[in-house]
Amino acid sequence: MKNIILCGAPGCGKGTQAEFIVAHYGLTHLSTGQLMRSVAASGSELGNLIDSYISQGHLVPDDVTIRLLEEYIGQLPADTKGLIFDGFPRTLNQAVQLERLMKKRGDTNAILIDINVPEDELIRRLLERGKTSGRSDDSDISIIRERLAIYHDQTRPVDDYYELHDKYARIQGLGTISEIFGRISRILNKIY
Ligand code: ADP
Repeated sequence: MKNIILCGAPGCGKGTQAEFIVAHYGLTHLSTGQLMRSVAASGSELGNLIDSYISQGHLVPDDVTIRLLEEYIGQLPADTKGLIFDGFPRTLNQAVQLERLMKKRGDTNAILIDINVPEDELIRRLLERGKTSGRSDDSDISIIRERLAIYHDQTRPVDDYYELHDKYARIQGLGTISEIFGRISRILNKIY
């Protein structure tokens, strides 16, 4: 598998762009946020634990996240062309663990694409999404601010990690959805 990582702050458009990438490049979309929300909705003990983190805007602990990710990857069909990681890795430790897992499988992470959007626009988009998404973490401004702060503190170092390994591209995340997809395509056409 040759994977890509979509990175950027909450509300930058990772999920939207991932759907276009699936349609055009035949990759498989893995949103760890969606994965977590589906486990949370199951009402299991693990689900309740996960929900307690999500609803406060906090990251789910790395050991839980990595275990769920390994389970998911272990169940993929053998002919999977590649994954779009959306919302993972979100900490430096997750990035290191992911590289370990990929190496073990003989897979590669081709590039991290960082979608850049100014903070006032992110807040506007998240509050707008909160009106219809039913997501507990999208409707409260203090939880949104908490998520943005965690992004700056814990997730930005992941960008630096991939930049250091020459696997980093930054794109402008303002514009129409198709303009942004065009920017991503120029990068992906060199890989797939
Ligand atoms: P957004 O990008 O808008 O914050 P996500 O759907 O990616 O939304 O994530 C929602 C929540 O799920 C996060 O705030 C966090 O609680 C949890 N989560 C998702 N991915 C991870 C991860 N890689 N590590 C820890 N927690 C995660």
